[in-house]
Formats: sequence, C-alpha cells, structure tokens
Amino acid sequence: MNFCVYCHERIEQPLTWSTWLTVKKNNVLCISCTGKLEMISGKRCKVCSRAWSSSICLDCQQWRELGDNIERNYSIFHYNETICEMITQWKFRGDYLLREMFRNELKSAFEKQFANNAASLTVIPIPLSESRMQERGFNQSLALAEMLDAPIKQVLRRKSGEKQAKKNRKARLKRDNPFSITEPLKQAALIVDDIYTTGTTVRQAAQQLKFHGCPEVYSLTIARS
Ligand SMILES: [Zn+2]
Ligand SMILES: [Zn+2]
Repeated sequence: MNFCVYCHERIEQPLTWSTWLTVKKNNVLCISCTGKLEMISGKRCKVCSRAWSSSICLDCQQWRELGDNIERNYSIFHYNETICEMITQWKFRGDYLLREMFRNELKSAFEKQFANNAASLTVIPIPLSESRMQERGFNQSLALAEMLDAPIKQVLRRKSGEKQAKKNRKARLKRDNPFSITEPLKQAALIVDDIYTTGTTVRQAAQQLKFHGCPEVYSLTIARS
C-alpha cells in the first residue's frame, strides 16, 4: 500500500494490472495533491517559461537588451498555493525526502526539454551560503540535481554574506554578484533550482559561468512564479 508523501493519505491503486505497474513505479503523490498542481501548458515565453501569449515576455525582452546570459529557463509548474506549501514544507522544514514529489516531472522535463544537448550538459546546483546550509541541513538545488541522470559539478560558490558585506560594501550596494567560480566549466551548463522568480539568481550564476568560459547556460526549475 502506498501513502502520499505529502498529505499521507492512501494512494488509491488503479484497477488494472498494467496501469498498476506503471503507477506503482511513479506515484508518490495522491490524486488530490496531484490535482492541485498546475503544470505550465499552452503558450509560454520561450526564454523564461512564463505563461505568455507571444514568443518572448517583456521581462525577457529587457534582459535581452542588457545582453542576456541565459539561453533558456524551463519551469514545470505554475507557482500556486499548493506548490508554495510543498516547497516550504520540503525546504524550510527540512523534510528532505519530499524531493520525491518532484522526481518524475523533473526527470521527464529534463529528458524532453534538454534531450538534444542532454549528453553534453553538466548540471550545476546553486550553492547556499554556509549559514543557510546550517539552518536547512541540505541544499534544495543539489537535491534536485542529484535526481537527474547527468554529471554534476559544484563549481559555483556563494560568497559569504557578512564578511563580504564588510569588505566590499560598495559592491554589495550595487548588488554585486553573490557567486564566484571554483573551477572553469567548458561544457554547456544546466542550472537546476526550485523556483524561478525574477530570474536574477540564475543570471548572476550564468554571468560567472560564462565569464569563465562556459559556452551556454540553461536552467530547469520546478516552479515559475
Ligand atoms: Zn496527497
Ligand atoms: Zn520571459
């Protein structure tokens, strides 16, 4: 018998043997929880995945004018109340195993969306600061990255907050890039994270990667807010 990893209700098994085989393998969420998730479908901005009727949203047009440094972000779900609660439960309450909620959709989006360059993509997690890492106990971005069948390189480092602020307040006021690179990456990169909000984080990471010779940067995120 299976129980929903999120709400702990029993997962009803479908009646036929063949559907049971497929569902058994995949189902970690009950029908009710699955039903509350909204996948992004229909027209979307081809750069950031926002539901959008024409090809590139206004935000991304502005990024393009500044010389955008990401090729494309693909998000799976709309950021609605349910996914917000799920991510909160997972990330801020330290319920690591809840990453299973996203495994199937994440893998399938990776295979479908990045199939052409999947073989050559290196997966790059967004690092947490040390203090965040201590609060949370795990890095959600790395937890997602590990579910993909691709090599991971942790080449980004987050500059530590306080010391940086004291040393370099001017730069911080200018919203200096919080990331540095531990080793240049010469292959195309796929950044994986939970939420794409303004797109600033992924672009700051991409800026560092590209500055050090990375040819292309994509991103794959669970939700688009
Ligand atoms: Zn449920
Ligand atoms: Zn866009």
